[in-house]
Amino acid sequence: MAMTTHQLRAKQHCTTPLHFHVLMVNLPDTTEQVTSASDPEGLAFTATYINSRTGEQVREIEIHLQPDVRVYFIASQHPHWYFILQFSAFYSRFGCSCLAGKQFNQTRQECEHMRQIEKVVA
Ligand SMILES: [Zn+2]
Repeated sequence: MAMTTHQLRAKQHCTTPLHFHVLMVNLPDTTEQVTSASDPEGLAFTATYINSRTGEQVREIEIHLQPDVRVYFIASQHPHWYFILQFSAFYSRFGCSCLAGKQFNQTRQECEHMRQIEKVVA
């Protein structure tokens, strides 16, 4: 069944804002461009969904990593706010929490952070 205009509008209304939410971590004591973290017992940290258009902090979530899983943080244009990158063994590449990184599956374009982290880790 074809969607009516009304349904289309409703759908866009509830999906578009989320599309611009990027997950970031605030590291107040870090000035490095790239840093990483891992813990033999598993790492837990707080990340924040940011509206990339307005800079508004939308909500915080708790992230729990498996033991010895390493997560990488790359500086954004905002001091002490970092994008989150993690290597996916399944995809054999890094995933990034920035807007371009989230769109990789559609665009097949690596974001600047993926290129950056591949140089650091290689
Ligand atoms: Zn990125």
